[in-house]
Amino acid sequence: MSNRYHQRPPDYSIQDAEIYLSGYQLNPYVYAKSQNLIDYFIKGSHDYIRSLEPESDHTVYVGYSGIALTHFMIHLKTQRPGSFEIAKQLNNMALRRLTGRRVSFLQGDAGPLAMAAAINFTDRNDRQATEYVSRLIRLGEKAKRQEFEVLNGWSGYLYALQYVNTFITGAVPGTVIRKYVEIVLNEGMNNAHRSQSRVPLVYSWADTNYYGAAHGVAGILYMLLCSGFVSSSELHGFIGPTLDNLIQRRHPSGNYRSSEDSESDKLVQWCHGAPGFVDLLILADQVFGGGKYLPLAEDATDVVWERGLLEKGYSICHGVSGNAYSFLAMFRKTRSLEQLYRAATYFQWVLTYPDKEGYKPDRPYSLFEGQAGVLYFLTEMANPETAAFPDQIL
Ligand SMILES: [Zn+2]
Repeated sequence: MSNRYHQRPPDYSIQDAEIYLSGYQLNPYVYAKSQNLIDYFIKGSHDYIRSLEPESDHTVYVGYSGIALTHFMIHLKTQRPGSFEIAKQLNNMALRRLTGRRVSFLQGDAGPLAMAAAINFTDRNDRQATEYVSRLIRLGEKAKRQEFEVLNGWSGYLYALQYVNTFITGAVPGTVIRKYVEIVLNEGMNNAHRSQSRVPLVYSWADTNYYGAAHGVAGILYMLLCSGFVSSSELHGFIGPTLDNLIQRRHPSGNYRSSEDSESDKLVQWCHGAPGFVDLLILADQVFGGGKYLPLAEDATDVVWERGLLEKGYSICHGVSGNAYSFLAMFRKTRSLEQLYRAATYFQWVLTYPDKEGYKPDRPYSLFEGQAGVLYFLTEMANPETAAFPDQIL
């Protein structure tokens, strides 16, 4: 056993799968085992809310907007009493903290604004929802220089625009989405030109050419592809070859590099490595067709399966819950019971919380590092066919 991950469960067999699964769901008695932990996390979110101070982190990533997003999802999927009120209360607090400095969904103002539009629309306050959509669009118009990756930059803003449109069809016009697609594409083209790269789109964050979902090219390409506003020549001349370069440069193990220069094949987590590529490869299969990318997505899930039970802990950003979403994405795409079985074994693993947490998160209640992310995952396992990582567009 390595000191990075635990030995994986047995490979899929019909007999083992029957322990966990009933059709395309978890067996009800298996799912019921999560109820105590779900209740514990819900109580934890109440404790956390009581502890909030005016200067507490309000972002989606590791602040209280992540708790709001979790409870909003719980409300939408389970109608649990009280969750919608929590989401509204925390979202209102976050809206008072906006600065206009950052545009991304996870770390910037776009998260609280996009959620405010969706929450008000769900609450049948259409006029308010429209106002928040306008504020979200103005945020982009007024923003000063930004990063480009998902966590902090314009790709994260593209996510926010699309998130709103999943609730309110057409609320953000295609011309607006296209404007930011061009901003992101142009940055990649200019960087490639400047560095005389043979790869047509080059991005960097903090002076490093990251490849993964949070800070890197994989996350950026995912947001471009799901926008629906890239031309055929951009698709085939720029996005496709850039993706193919990421694939060619995989480690011999099949894992994906965390950055251009990194030879270290250590990280298998959503933010760095194979798990963050599964959604991208599945989407690329859908957009490009031709059957090239789907087997690669499946290979990426095999890497996660071998090395995904992280010693680090349970989080969705760099832990077991986030890695389980690789299997869920593949299951949604292929209806493969093997992939659902894999997710189910991770579900079972997560029920050991907190005994196998090798590294205590700095923000233990948060969505991306802590309890809320695990709560998000456990809640979604009630219906794996609709489960999606919280920066994914279905
Ligand atoms: Zn992470």
